[in-house]
Amino acid sequence: MKIGIPRGLLYDHYQFLWKSFFENLGAEVVISQKTNKKIVDDGVAVTVDEACLPVKVYHGHVMDLRDKVDFIFVPKIMSIHEKEYICPKFCGLPEMIKTSISNLPTIIDPTIDFIKNKKHLLEIVYEIGGYVTYDKRKIRLSFEEALKSHQNYKNKMKQGFFPMDLDKKHEEKHEAKHKEDTQKILLLGHPYNIYDEYLSMNIVEKLRKYGMTVITQDHFSKDQINPQMNELQKKMFWTFGRKMLGAALYAMEQEDIQGIIYLSSFGCGIDSVIADIVERRTRRNSKKPYILLTMDEHTGEAGIDTRIEAFVDMIKWRVENENYVSTHGQYISAR
Ligand code: SF4
Repeated sequence: MKIGIPRGLLYDHYQFLWKSFFENLGAEVVISQKTNKKIVDDGVAVTVDEACLPVKVYHGHVMDLRDKVDFIFVPKIMSIHEKEYICPKFCGLPEMIKTSISNLPTIIDPTIDFIKNKKHLLEIVYEIGGYVTYDKRKIRLSFEEALKSHQNYKNKMKQGFFPMDLDKKHEEKHEAKHKEDTQKILLLGHPYNIYDEYLSMNIVEKLRKYGMTVITQDHFSKDQINPQMNELQKKMFWTFGRKMLGAALYAMEQEDIQGIIYLSSFGCGIDSVIADIVERRTRRNSKKPYILLTMDEHTGEAGIDTRIEAFVDMIKWRVENENYVSTHGQYISAR
């Protein structure tokens, strides 16, 4: 039995959970190809114009799997953390897929609410595992094993790991992580934007080539993010927005983080709100350079490269001429 998992949206976040789970049950797991031009074009062709780029690309990943597998796993994820929400597009994803793409194999589309109690989660796990085996004990044990893989992966992420480094050779990873860089950049964005090499136009690698150390919101701990968010007047109830904003506010106070880049999807409501708050707070509270890079299917790589290059030049210049001029043009001190 072949089960396909589309390499889009929350794939990176849960890749070790679902892949390990199905494999532990004895199924063959097929992951769609890495995002490429065909996947983007196929996704764009079948989705409505109003959809954001990551949702369009997810459709392309489903199309990549359509003729290769017996089932495609498209969970309907309702929430991840208590009293928080994720974008409504995740709740309607299976329906969007089924109405936009024809001749699909069976879609495994459980409704997953990670904040409900363990009993509820186990029922969902039995429902998903039931596509492969009727043996409930095997399903439970397979899921428990998969949870361990998921936890290991999350721990690695906290230590500065990037999902795209998984495929790299040991030496390349070592080089990417341990260059004696002095400039550290915080890259913010939904995980499916910043960790997708094609969609992000390889921004992590580009920054590394300029000698920058890149960190993301996933590399911060709860102890670093929560106190920042507790000081806001209103609770931020979007899970990914909360993480991005908390990381940005924390980074603004850290001397070793020299700049902030926000990679956003055109038309994303959450990105537009969070990016606006990050920009205003950065201007008000810190001297750090900040840029917003917005992408859609028409974004040209040359324009993005030019902006990244200028941003890196500014950071290097500021490090050499410390405390001379602020990001926004005001003099901090005269030489
Ligand atoms: S949060 Fe934004 S980018 Fe993500 S699926 Fe929703 S609209 Fe798209």
